Amino acid sequence: MISYQVVEHGKPLQKVVFEKPKPKGTEVLVRITRSGVCHSDLHIWDGFFDWGGGKRFYVKDRGCVPPFTLGHEPFGVVEAVGPRAKGVKVGQKRIVYPWIGCGKCAVCKAGQDNYCISGSRYLGVNVPGAYSTHVLVPDAKYLVDAAGVEESFAATLACSALTAYSAASKLPPLGPKDRVAVIGCGGVGLSGVAVLRAKGVKGIVACDIDPGKLALAAKLGARETVDTRSPDAASRLSGIAGAIDFVGAPATAALGVGALRKGGRYVLVGLYGGELVHPLPPIAQRAIGIVGSYVGNLQELKEVVALAKRKKLRPQPIETRAAEGANAALEDLKAGRVFGRVVLDFGTVAA
Ligand SMILES: [Zn+2]
Ligand SMILES: [Zn+2]
Repeated sequence: MISYQVVEHGKPLQKVVFEKPKPKGTEVLVRITRSGVCHSDLHIWDGFFDWGGGKRFYVKDRGCVPPFTLGHEPFGVVEAVGPRAKGVKVGQKRIVYPWIGCGKCAVCKAGQDNYCISGSRYLGVNVPGAYSTHVLVPDAKYLVDAAGVEESFAATLACSALTAYSAASKLPPLGPKDRVAVIGCGGVGLSGVAVLRAKGVKGIVACDIDPGKLALAAKLGARETVDTRSPDAASRLSGIAGAIDFVGAPATAALGVGALRKGGRYVLVGLYGGELVHPLPPIAQRAIGIVGSYVGNLQELKEVVALAKRKKLRPQPIETRAAEGANAALEDLKAGRVFGRVVLDFGTVAA
């Protein structure tokens, strides 16, 4: 098998050849054909998250020590199954749910693997991911059938669409006139617009600093677009029922929280970094909610896939590139040159 690995944080990924693992017990070996490139890959590549005030959280402190394989939007074909793997056959095409917990703790047993505290096995975050020809999955229950959904789009459902879907579920109940801001129209933000449309939300206000990304958001169904650098950005957003912040920077948080109507909710998704400083009394007086959202659970992925199968969820622009272009894809994403999602084609990589 061939993987593109972080060998040193911030340096180009390297192509590494390994012996293929043999699935044991309930394990399943998936031959990856598509692997999406996500903004959070950039943080793991860099090796840290910016906590603001000069503080950093280093990914090595949660076990992500190079050499390490990124990639948490996996799609592929079942190549081999362990002796106790159930409900799956060699040759079946599947999305791999990447946010795999320990499988034993109370939250995992309740189907909330993405909240697991005692031993996360998130693909491409804690354990080797999908910038690779093969991924070893601990159990077939983490494989989701996306028959009829184009393969590159299917790969992006595992993080960008799932993350947007789970975040949207944390908005307050919305009336027909309510407006919701989508802050940041990169790959996950554009999925946010598509997910809100699929859920029947009409008053979507797309916010970004890039007119090209705002135009894509409008095409996907945003009713209004706001350049967040314009002086009237705050007044145009004022009175929104909800904001989903796919950037997660001090300026976007201040904009989103500050524009909420009473009872509104700000959902933080983006991991750009920094800290939030906000007066306490108005949080109570205006009864606003500030809530974080991290990826999504397996059931939510199945719901997202069902929306895509029924063509309710429209794909954002997706560019499928050869896997050899993994480094250029990360560089382009870092420089803000990616419109929608880049998905790497591992299907043509000889393994
Ligand atoms: Zn992601
Ligand atoms: Zn767990």
